[in-house]
Amino acid sequence: MSDYIKPFPNIKDPIDGHIHIHKWYDENNSIDFTHGLEEYRRECGLKYITLAPLPSGNAIPVSRDVSNNIICAFYKILNKDTFSYGGYIYPSYPVKKEDMVGMELKTQYGELMEIGFDGIKMLEGKPNLYKRIGAPLDGELFDEAFEEMEKNGTYILMHARDPHCFWTEPTEERIAKKWYYGDGTYPTFEELLIQVENVLNKYPRLKLCLAHFFFMSETPEKLAKMLEKYPNLMVDITPGGEMYIDFDKRPEYFKGFFTKYSDRIIFGTDMDFPVHLEAGKWLCDREYRFLATNETLPSFDDHHLTGIEIPRKDLQKIFSDNLLKIFGGKPREINKNALKRYIEKYKHLIVDKALLAKIEELAKIHL
Ligand SMILES: [Zn+2]
Repeated sequence: MSDYIKPFPNIKDPIDGHIHIHKWYDENNSIDFTHGLEEYRRECGLKYITLAPLPSGNAIPVSRDVSNNIICAFYKILNKDTFSYGGYIYPSYPVKKEDMVGMELKTQYGELMEIGFDGIKMLEGKPNLYKRIGAPLDGELFDEAFEEMEKNGTYILMHARDPHCFWTEPTEERIAKKWYYGDGTYPTFEELLIQVENVLNKYPRLKLCLAHFFFMSETPEKLAKMLEKYPNLMVDITPGGEMYIDFDKRPEYFKGFFTKYSDRIIFGTDMDFPVHLEAGKWLCDREYRFLATNETLPSFDDHHLTGIEIPRKDLQKIFSDNLLKIFGGKPREINKNALKRYIEKYKHLIVDKALLAKIEELAKIHL
């Protein structure tokens, strides 16, 4: 990237708050995940990275099962300065109460916290997973877990909804990925907002971060009202590029927004393993420069975006301090015995047998 500058100048201990491990090895070079994000961390000058496992959802094309929690836990053991969420798993879709006996979400929550995950990742509000699970966010399935998470002040990164156009514009790509939601079989954009608000009304102190700006870049006034109403609510600014294009349409408004709510906003890239290093560097650079400078640069979806240049003290919060504070200043230690028990309990749910063998090998060496 010819116009790429030193990443995150002037930020102390930058943190990428939103990263996935999509596959357990890189098919291009057969290198496995165990240190797979370290080059990205180094090249981008990130002090901490934060893994967000996706242990439920579509089985294709990747192993979205319990193994994703487990490999993120191993990543934490093997690479210091790594935060990781844990995620909930479902033994059947649509979810049936009787199948969850012994692995109720409250039980799983206890297990994930005992292992030493730093928070909980929920993808359950993404319309395609929502439809598979078949249960509303504000319903009985989740109640006890939300109650526990609120009580303990556990930080949750939740993906709920998707860009509004996924309901209105059925492109070929969206249909192929099952990301088109306008056929009447999915909850609407508005319904998912109401469900999230219901959750927050029931558990108003929930430390909830809604990923991707909660897809409200077109209606930031509405989001501002929510931030005012729920004191522990946060959003992350992990792209969708569409949100940055919306920010650019109203630079003065968003400069005010990002300054006013700088303690409620978290930086993330959605970077993943296997790593596309240039893409990762580009994302860090463009997100940082959009907030930190007044430069006009080619950016998301080939739009030229002009930076909104918010004050340094606000940048420091968004790119590091907020998440560090939420996570208590440093990553939690993995409790090896608890991880061992978790693997024994759930390994029958791992679909990819080569990955199961890898996990058993890692367990033998490290646990
Ligand atoms: Zn993500």
